[in-house]
Amino acid sequence: KEEFSRGALRTKTVEDILTPLKDCFMLPSTAVLDFGTMSEIMQSGYTRVPIYEEERSNIVEILYVKDLALVDPDDCTPMTTITKFYNHPLHFVFNDTKLDAMLEEFKKGNSHLAIVQKVNNEGEGDPFYEVLGLVTLEDVIEEIIKSEILDE
Ligand code: ADP
Repeated sequence: KEEFSRGALRTKTVEDILTPLKDCFMLPSTAVLDFGTMSEIMQSGYTRVPIYEEERSNIVEILYVKDLALVDPDDCTPMTTITKFYNHPLHFVFNDTKLDAMLEEFKKGNSHLAIVQKVNNEGEGDPFYEVLGLVTLEDVIEEIIKSEILDE
């Protein structure tokens, strides 16, 4: 346990390791689960797909690929029917969260995926929450492995 808190894990933040929003595979809440959309989800290879409303920065739900097990593409089920049914919680963290703290959060929770946001107070207007991307347990574990190797 001590070892995992060494170096990079204590100093690096989720912002350093996140998958940027522009690279995230996401779908709009207006999507319909027809053959095309379901194929696209399968081909993405991801197990979780953030669902946004209006803008990609506005993530409102999360779809797990396993939620699709009983969905028939011929029914053209609206995305929101499925996301509202399963209603998986969204987990937000701030950009300056250190990796050791993030690891503890992931261990406590059950989502293993967090949406990274920062308070944007640049510019004239009021400060607002800006979504930067997503981070998963996998990203943190990758850092642990990297730092373990470098420490040797
Ligand atoms: P998965 O189970 O979907 O492969 P992991 O948690 O194993 O997801 O993460 C693998 C990598 O993919 C990580 O770098 C993570 O940030 C990224 N990732 C996870 N979900 C998505 C997504 N929907 N779009 C883009 N990148 C993602």
